[in-house]
Amino acid sequence: MATNINIRRDVKDPFYRYKMPRLQSKVEGKGNGIKTVLPNIVEVSRALSRPAAYPTKYFGNELGAQTKIEDKNDRFIVNGAHDADKLQSLLDGFIERFVLCGSCKSPETDLLISKDQSIIRKCMACGHNSDVDMRHRLATYIIKNPPPKEKKGGKHASSGARQDNSSASGSANGDEIDVLAHGTAQLDISADEDDDDWGYDEDAAADIPVPSGGLAQSPDDEDDEDDVDPFDQLGDYINGGEYDDSAIYAKAVELGLGKNHRTLVVVIQCLFEGSTTLVKDIAKHHKLLIRFGKSDKHQRAVIGGFERVVEANIDQLLSKLPAALMALFEKDIVEEDVFLDWSKKPSKKYVSKESAKKIHKAAQPFIEWLENAEEESDSD
Ligand SMILES: [Zn+2]
Repeated sequence: MATNINIRRDVKDPFYRYKMPRLQSKVEGKGNGIKTVLPNIVEVSRALSRPAAYPTKYFGNELGAQTKIEDKNDRFIVNGAHDADKLQSLLDGFIERFVLCGSCKSPETDLLISKDQSIIRKCMACGHNSDVDMRHRLATYIIKNPPPKEKKGGKHASSGARQDNSSASGSANGDEIDVLAHGTAQLDISADEDDDDWGYDEDAAADIPVPSGGLAQSPDDEDDEDDVDPFDQLGDYINGGEYDDSAIYAKAVELGLGKNHRTLVVVIQCLFEGSTTLVKDIAKHHKLLIRFGKSDKHQRAVIGGFERVVEANIDQLLSKLPAALMALFEKDIVEEDVFLDWSKKPSKKYVSKESAKKIHKAAQPFIEWLENAEEESDSD
């Protein structure tokens, strides 16, 4: 079938044995609610032996867009309008980073999570173990939502995925897909109790909830909507429609998050990710950003939220950061002392160490301005 393409698109050989369906995308809605549904991401992911949530999240990370993952309904959504070609190109990056063996470039690999919480691609072809770049945002997600392991001869072997992979394989390549389907990982196949993610480094970014449907679909709470993390519920709510700030605040209160400083991180990511007009949008939402509380913790969470927003779109937003921080200062959302305290040391509480360093460097003009302003007012 013409819709099957080589998993490695740089390989032009038509007889290359590893194929996947060509990615499809379907834009729905309009205005701020516009979104891209990925109708065949399940089939594509099955060919890659990865849960469909992984490439979906990866698209979100790369595009700085929110994602919605409804495993149960096989609905995988990226906010914004994205055509299939662009997503296919992004998928190449996902495959390179999270699928292909780092040594022989075979796509027949399993993802394993090591004791020290790093992710390894174990190659079935050559036996090589290659590390995954843990600085990528998706790595954090994978640690929190590990791929279900294929139990040796156990009843949880991923036969479920294997049985219906005929729908993925199209026609002639059924055998090859079957080979690829080892360890095929759909989040709903088997929750793995051994991989308890609570032991994860407390200081790492994973500690702070990421507002997306994704975390709501961790294997443990898959069957019970009521267990869904309230932060995720709030994120889904904000992303699910066009609500004004008072409705967002009311929803947060309803979920018991009205005073929680971490709510700010979720709200800021939902409202600001994808924005390139941070200053304008801060002016628009400044009342909401104060409403959750004004303690130092709250103010640090505001900065953390914006660190994440910048990290998600770092090429475009890094240069706009000083103006955004200035807007937070002028609107009395974050005070001078908190900024100066924050500026002392890049923290990986909300973003990767690497991003935190870049963000601090970019913020320097604003911080210097603050320090000078302080001296001037002191000498008055
Ligand atoms: Zn290999």
